[in-house]
Amino acid sequence: MASKRQIFVGGVPIGGGAPVVVQTMTKTETANLAATMEQIHRVAEAGADIVRCAVPREKDVEALRTIVKESPIPIIADIHFNHTLALKAIDAGAHCIRLNPGNIGGRDKVAEVAEKANAANVPMRIGVNSGSLPKHLHALEREAPVEALVAAAVEFVELMEGLDFENFKISIKSTNVPNTIAANRLLSEKVPYPLHLGITEAGTKWAGSLKSAVGLGTLLADGIGDTIRISLSTFHAEEEVKVAWEILKALQLRERGPVLIACPTCGRLQFDMDSVVAEIEQRLESYAEPVEVAVLGCAVNGIGEASHADFGIAGAKNEGLIFTHGKPLRKVPQETLVDTLFEEIDKSLDRGKVEIDEAESREGAAWLARIEEENAGELTPEKIARMEREAVEKGESDKVLLDEAASPTAGRRFTRA
Ligand code: SF4
Repeated sequence: MASKRQIFVGGVPIGGGAPVVVQTMTKTETANLAATMEQIHRVAEAGADIVRCAVPREKDVEALRTIVKESPIPIIADIHFNHTLALKAIDAGAHCIRLNPGNIGGRDKVAEVAEKANAANVPMRIGVNSGSLPKHLHALEREAPVEALVAAAVEFVELMEGLDFENFKISIKSTNVPNTIAANRLLSEKVPYPLHLGITEAGTKWAGSLKSAVGLGTLLADGIGDTIRISLSTFHAEEEVKVAWEILKALQLRERGPVLIACPTCGRLQFDMDSVVAEIEQRLESYAEPVEVAVLGCAVNGIGEASHADFGIAGAKNEGLIFTHGKPLRKVPQETLVDTLFEEIDKSLDRGKVEIDEAESREGAAWLARIEEENAGELTPEKIARMEREAVEKGESDKVLLDEAASPTAGRRFTRA
């Protein structure tokens, strides 16, 4: 269940139906102002809405004063063990304090931070980690780790409510993906506060991205989770941000920049798809517009399966077809296919619409029709999918298609302008 409460970190709303917020953490020594600011600018450019900085020492709190002023996005101060640093971080202007009430030195110290945060209207993220549950929950943790995580989170919530502090979000994190999913599902039914999702120490870019996509994606598809952080073993924090965005875009929860669709290729492939897709992906990185581009390895299926794409190419031996919203634009030689595709994308972005030369479009459509006719007997993956869909529409098959209105993400989707 989506959270009912909303908090603000700087000007960024979290929870209560707000778009899922992307965050990451700087990996520099916070006190190294130049390096930290450079990384903050990089993650902000990659699409981070907010960023967390570790504050383990006095000199980090000192640096925080400048960081908060110069950062283009709100800053969360990450505090462990030392509540004095939390108090100083609030004075330094941090937009949010992350702390684990279980490791900050007892109720009185949490109360001191809560009082100051309340007075300064600074929210907190209170966190529970599978590796640091309170002692009295260790026995339960051995028997039922999910219940132990949720029990710890609920205790912390009650502690904060008892201190008259309700301006917080919660995170329950575990290195175990099924436990993270189960614990967050359970917690979302028990408390109204926004949830921060993450898989702790997820791993390297490849494995960590997949683990995070499975764990966070499952929860987000259920409507659970208000802010996400992908934890990857890389110094390049912007990589975490890019992965977070891919997860949100895949679930159609938020839009940012282009979406690239590419067929998986098969034995009908007639050109060097790998390098073409890689080039298109790389060139699309410089576009901020949510243009959708499809790359089909052959034209055997026509362009119907990618007809929703703003632009696309269907390759063939020595030549290919450029299309827009399912309509052929023109046939071009293989060597200029990608350049021509980007010329068309640029023209449409400049002028706000696609200019179609009817003669070239007719020539492209005829080329496509010829290829389809030559391959009329081919049962391609796309053709089978289309036949299945048509059979359902005609009532000849009872295979159930995804009902968009019943989708768990319905109502939280962003629509294209
Ligand atoms: S048949 Fe489909 S999967 Fe195979 S190359 Fe053509 S478009 Fe790609």
